[in-house]
Amino acid sequence: MKIAASLVFTVSLFAQPSRPIEQFTTKAGPLKITPIRHASLVMEAGGTAVHVDPWSQGNYDGIPAADLILITDIHGDHLDPKAIEKVRKAGAKLIAPKAVAEKLGGDVIVLNNGDRQVFGSWTIEAVPMYNLKRGPSEGKLFHDKGRGNGYVVNYGDMRLYISGDTEAVPEMRTLKNIDVAFVTMNLPYTMPPEEAAEGVKAFHPKVVYPYHYRGSDLSVFEKALAGSGIEVRVRNWYY
Ligand SMILES: [Zn+2]
Repeated sequence: MKIAASLVFTVSLFAQPSRPIEQFTTKAGPLKITPIRHASLVMEAGGTAVHVDPWSQGNYDGIPAADLILITDIHGDHLDPKAIEKVRKAGAKLIAPKAVAEKLGGDVIVLNNGDRQVFGSWTIEAVPMYNLKRGPSEGKLFHDKGRGNGYVVNYGDMRLYISGDTEAVPEMRTLKNIDVAFVTMNLPYTMPPEEAAEGVKAFHPKVVYPYHYRGSDLSVFEKALAGSGIEVRVRNWYY
């Protein structure tokens, strides 16, 4: 993957805040990523669009309908049936862990932690996402191990990691050959920026985007990774 990607701002006729769009070059052709909002993003390549955690609070104007939808978890900022209906192209495949499939019903392809499946030019790996220590009360966790999926998305020679709601678990730390990572940070549900930075250092992607970061001080994340050789790309996910 060529890392000399450029940031392109769309021009809005209505003076709305600009939507960040990220462009990458892979051996299979260009890949474009649009942050939508919070945990929602869209990847486009080879004439197909992959939506991650579509959410009704996101602005989908100008975004192509989904050929593939990845859902990480059962919480409302990740599993939003109305948004799924809105973005889903007829015949689009919906990929989710079992806990999500049970809530959603219908036509869902279940991938659980450790599963891997090919969909056209995209290969999707489901990886664990969970809390190690944070939860709503003593002895409970916000995200139990095995319930939700982070994803490693392979396109061409490029490997993208989408963390889902997680702390810096061992399965994150030992990821291999990640080009671009989207890593969560927010309290109380996931982890603070300093812990996220420490986890990211361990698996050392080429590029990392903080996402799902509402209320977090991203300068802490940036400082913690300064000089690490990992490029931190702070974008506005709440435009
Ligand atoms: Zn969340």
